[in-house]
Amino acid sequence: MTEHQLEIDWTRCDAHGLCATLLPDDVTLDEWGFPVLRGRRVTPSELTNARRAVLACPALALRLQRS
Ligand code: SF4
Repeated sequence: MTEHQLEIDWTRCDAHGLCATLLPDDVTLDEWGFPVLRGRRVTPSELTNARRAVLACPALALRLQRS
């Protein structure tokens, strides 16, 4: 079964924080507002929300990788 994991392109991320709002189980923010990934796999039931968050990232920095 294909598994998915979130990744962040640090050359693009501008600390908008939207990903932590949309995916609170997967992302928290550090003291400067940059995302910290919890490193857990995205479950099949969470995939739709994860894809929405990827599309919503204003900096196109959030990615969903197959593993
Ligand atoms: S929404 Fe995008 S730009 Fe904003 S903190 Fe998350 S990854 Fe970075």
